[in-house]
Amino acid sequence: MRSLTKIIQSVPTDPLTGSIAVPVYQTSTFVQSAPGVNKGYDYARTNNPTRAVLENILAELEEGHSGFAFATGLAAIDAVLKLLSYGDEIVAVDDIYGGAYRLLTHVYQKFGIKINYVDTRNIENVKKTINNNTKLVWLESPTNPTLKISDIKTISELAHQSGALMVVDNTFATPVAQRPLSLGADIVVHSGTKYLGGHSDLLAGFVVTQNEELSEKIKFIQNASGGVLAPWDCFLVIRGIETLEIRYKQQCQTALQVAQVLEKHPLVDKVHYPGLKTHVNHEIASRQQNAWFGAMISFSLKEDTTENAEKVVCQTKLFKLAESLGGVKSLVSLPAKMTHVSVPREKRLQSGIQDSLIRLSCGIEDVQDLIEDILQAINS
Ligand SMILES: *Cc1c(COP(=O)(O)O)cnc(C)c1O
Repeated sequence: MRSLTKIIQSVPTDPLTGSIAVPVYQTSTFVQSAPGVNKGYDYARTNNPTRAVLENILAELEEGHSGFAFATGLAAIDAVLKLLSYGDEIVAVDDIYGGAYRLLTHVYQKFGIKINYVDTRNIENVKKTINNNTKLVWLESPTNPTLKISDIKTISELAHQSGALMVVDNTFATPVAQRPLSLGADIVVHSGTKYLGGHSDLLAGFVVTQNEELSEKIKFIQNASGGVLAPWDCFLVIRGIETLEIRYKQQCQTALQVAQVLEKHPLVDKVHYPGLKTHVNHEIASRQQNAWFGAMISFSLKEDTTENAEKVVCQTKLFKLAESLGGVKSLVSLPAKMTHVSVPREKRLQSGIQDSLIRLSCGIEDVQDLIEDILQAINS
């Protein structure tokens, strides 16, 4: 079966009624016929039929053992971090998502977890940093907002050699482009708020595990900590996933065209987009992402001031000025003042986030309209 058919087929018809849409089981508890005797469900934090459908779809999409749905992407990340114990170390990609940086540095560090941030594009950096206390290697590829690509397969091998688990935040690539578990990763996390939901109308997060042992551990943490996704939001994500591949591929094609136009523009300095031949990791991205390079672009201006960048992001009309990404409506943002404000400036500059860096999330509007919109904003 081809992937488009597979996605639609992975959404089951309701066995009880034949309902073609997945029923929303808006309930907290389930009636038992005798103490401890139930139909597979006892309390909705532990399990819920609507959530179970979505979790199975995620496992199938990522080719994993089990999927777990959380209230937000950060709740999903938090669940994975709870696999760790006092004294454990993490090797993490240096321009990790700002919220993950905040969680690691300001919450987990005080519980005795040590985090080493490295530029994971260079394998030598990973080799040098990984040690016997390293329990997790944490990658994003592409990263946010500079679209750096790391070699998931090679780094997974390194992680496993020293007994660490490999985790990949697959939010930007989505399972349409990249399946980290098939490249050697042990755990995939997602912010379902982005492409999986796809309509900027919900928050959600996912963990997908590669084997039964990890599934049991995450299941335990999910139930113990309780940051689960509510049934109605599960329904909305299921509906979003039905059109994921069509949306994502269209958005990737649009982004490539926008990036190509920006690259030629005399007022534009650097354009970060893995689909451009000039991107340093274009080769790895082509292989690892099946040549679907994503719908995120970032670029800086030749006259590299925050003031100029602010003018551009305030003057686009179709690209709405907002945080977040991955929806059908195009968005523009200024990471240094918005999504990455919690990362210290020095660290931002180190990982290539200039004050004037502008980030675009391409939606499904007509590509020519989007190009005209960004050009008028830059030219003015
Ligand atoms: C948005 C995002 C998150 C956090 O997800 P929330 O749903 O906002 O909690 C994590 N990782 C990446 C790459 C993201 O873009």
